[in-house]
Amino acid sequence: MYPDRFKDKVALITGASSGIGFATAKRLAFDGASVILFARRKESLEKCVQEITENGGKACYFVGDVTNDDDVAGCIEHCLENYGAIHILVNNAGIELVRSFAMTSCEEWNKIVDVNLGGVIRFTQRVQKVMIKTGGVIINVSSMYGLVGVAGSSIYSMTKGGLISLTKSLALELASRNIRVNAIAAGMVETDLMDRVFRNLSSNQVERFRSMHPLGFGKPDDVSAGIAFLASDDARWITGTILVIDGGYTAF
Ligand code: NDP
Repeated sequence: MYPDRFKDKVALITGASSGIGFATAKRLAFDGASVILFARRKESLEKCVQEITENGGKACYFVGDVTNDDDVAGCIEHCLENYGAIHILVNNAGIELVRSFAMTSCEEWNKIVDVNLGGVIRFTQRVQKVMIKTGGVIINVSSMYGLVGVAGSSIYSMTKGGLISLTKSLALELASRNIRVNAIAAGMVETDLMDRVFRNLSSNQVERFRSMHPLGFGKPDDVSAGIAFLASDDARWITGTILVIDGGYTAF
């Protein structure tokens, strides 16, 4: 922990009611940021904020859906009312879709595109206008599946690959505004999302996935440590980068 690392900084984290998003909110808060947690589940958000504040962090939450423009606008307004600025945006909210390309319905692919890409676009368009005054950092939580192919999750992979392209282009577009834009390409991390994906797999299949990660499956804190680095001044000359945190999966 670096208690003064994000002193006087405000961080907005989407999808912060569990998993990587919550780990990130905790990490940034314990490193000194004031954090705002955004997601749909109010009870989970309440518990997350309680855990942070009981441990000395400064946190609040906003209940909303990344696919809803009014929720996104409301969250940013709430953040500005409470903290007066937004210096760090972590676009983390995302859903999975394990489905063969041929079997994916129009409703299913529209939904995942709207959450995994639309949510990032909605938040980033609004927040970059706020950041223009102060400079800032945007971090998009992508996946190793945005870098390599995956049979049976092609639409998920497409959304995460799109996020990587968006990250690079935005890094160029926003550099002159003193806004850095980077992404994380995460390997398999032990979260609710991974539980949902593995629910229908045999133990042999799970072991096969594990063996593809030379360092084993990751923990949410493994990813939040990378996010905190990219958000910090130690990364002040880093933009347009995809930080791979995958236990060695893509080294094969
Ligand atoms: P979780 O399911 O634990 O977290 C997902 C978060 O996104 C939750 O807080 C959820 O909150 C939120 N969320 C989902 N849909 C919406 C929505 N429509 N509006 C607002 N919030 C939403 O999984 P992870 O922590 O694993 O996932 C976090 C990110 O990491 C995702 O983008 C995922 O693709 C990515 N990732 C995960 C990997 C893994 O192996 N776990 C690997 C690579 C990338 P709520 O339900 O309360 O809205």
